[in-house]
Amino acid sequence: MSTTVRNIFVSSALPYANGSIHMGHLLEYLQSDIWARFQKLRGHNCIYVCAADAHGTPIMIKARQEKITPEKLIERVSAEQHEDLKAFGVAFDNFHTTHSDENKLIVCRIYDGLCKAGHIYTKTIEQAYDDVEKMFLPDRFIRGICPNQNCKSEDQYGDACEICGVTYTPRDLIDPVSVLSNTKPIWKESVHYFFKLSNFSDKLRKWIKSANLHENVVRKLEEWFDVGLQDWDISRDAPYFGFKIPDTNDKYFYVWLDAPVGYLASFLQLCDRRDDLDFDEYWIAGSDKEAYHFIGKDIVYFHTLFWPAVLAGSGFRQPTSVFAHGFLTINGRKMSKSRGTFIKARTYLDNLNPNYLRYYFAAKLGPSMDDIDMNMDDFIARVNSDLIGKLINIASRCAGFITKSFEGRLADSLDDPTLFAEFTSASEKIADHFEAREYSKAMRKIMALADKANKYIEQKKPWAIAKNEPHSPNIQAICTHGLNMFRILMIYLTPVIPEVAKQAQKLFNEKSWNWKAAGKPLLNHTISEYEPLLTRIDSKQVEHMIEQSK
Ligand SMILES: [Zn+2]
Repeated sequence: MSTTVRNIFVSSALPYANGSIHMGHLLEYLQSDIWARFQKLRGHNCIYVCAADAHGTPIMIKARQEKITPEKLIERVSAEQHEDLKAFGVAFDNFHTTHSDENKLIVCRIYDGLCKAGHIYTKTIEQAYDDVEKMFLPDRFIRGICPNQNCKSEDQYGDACEICGVTYTPRDLIDPVSVLSNTKPIWKESVHYFFKLSNFSDKLRKWIKSANLHENVVRKLEEWFDVGLQDWDISRDAPYFGFKIPDTNDKYFYVWLDAPVGYLASFLQLCDRRDDLDFDEYWIAGSDKEAYHFIGKDIVYFHTLFWPAVLAGSGFRQPTSVFAHGFLTINGRKMSKSRGTFIKARTYLDNLNPNYLRYYFAAKLGPSMDDIDMNMDDFIARVNSDLIGKLINIASRCAGFITKSFEGRLADSLDDPTLFAEFTSASEKIADHFEAREYSKAMRKIMALADKANKYIEQKKPWAIAKNEPHSPNIQAICTHGLNMFRILMIYLTPVIPEVAKQAQKLFNEKSWNWKAAGKPLLNHTISEYEPLLTRIDSKQVEHMIEQSK
């Protein structure tokens, strides 16, 4: 293992503060949390941040409907979101909001930098306007008939058709209607601010190479480069909930300009609390620290084109890389309320242990943008067979003998050093898998070792010896070995099932673990009495969760 301590910044995509966290979101947070926890376990300085994505028209409209201020809405929703994520073991070093002084400060610094460097210009555009509500309409607030001659599906959004997949502008929509007032929008001119993305073609190509992006992402980017980089409209007209553009009366930054800045704002707030962190050291151009964003495949364009260009154009460093994952399907299909598969985080927590889901996602996740399917029968079978049947079983078969017959004392030597070496020598391979976000490979490797541990115990049969000789040193030796194999596997699994790992630490009477701790056996050491670490999933729990989600 390399002894160099790395300085790593990690972010999760920001949850939009107008609804509850659901299973689809959790794929993102658990993937990134596992990675951040892994880096910390390896002894690196890893800072993991997130924030509420708080601006934009949907939040403004929802607050209006609830007759509260947008601030009140964000406060309530993001507190609930953060609670749910914490309950799943997602351990951010900081969780902030994009509607904050820190974010405003950095957004203005970025905008100022872009203006001075000549990357911003204004242009008059025509936009759909709701004359009843007296506001310009975002594409998603206009519905109408799909303009594709072969489709003509009714009730489609202003930017794309969900039936045939064609994209267009609201102007192309047949019989457009504002979803706010149900009236036909009119077309009105307004001055907008544009970011000259086209200035950054060469810089972006260079960054894409250095960022070592996944081949799926690179392929997408090539398609976009082929079409040509379009300049980006970064302004919205009042009324809007967001930050006002300096030196204007009624122009606001588009939510997508300030949302990724929220990563930096959250970090800046953390820097105020911690003496060991300096904002510029991490984020100024030329920084030697590492910075990674975990995102879903739907926001790749924003994070691999706009965001690195905006940063480069305003004197900031670009991310080291961007990691994009696919979507979650449940039982092979899109999550759906009527099928009971649109499962909220809270509903899951009311029925099931979060460690099950953490392990299941880890067992499925790789580094690509492929969608992940959560088949409920597979979920139950995999968790029961791997976590309970293989892993926990090792401890539950061995610990009782040690406490009952040996006063909790482990033997002072290993029964099978060769087998033990197999477990410790897997360390770097497993670490490589975690580092490369090949969690499914790491889980397979760990479970293959668990199989070996169980086979060892089955062959040695401590329970058979105990029938005649309950205090035989052989039993102590076998169970000491079994528990040591269990301990190594639990250290490897700490990023994935942290709560179970914490209980295992209690069993071993140890205060904390790092990755290296797996390299040395625990001998001549007193353990605590064994308490069940995790129980099997009963299919009724899953059925109940599905019923509650309907
Ligand atoms: Zn269509």
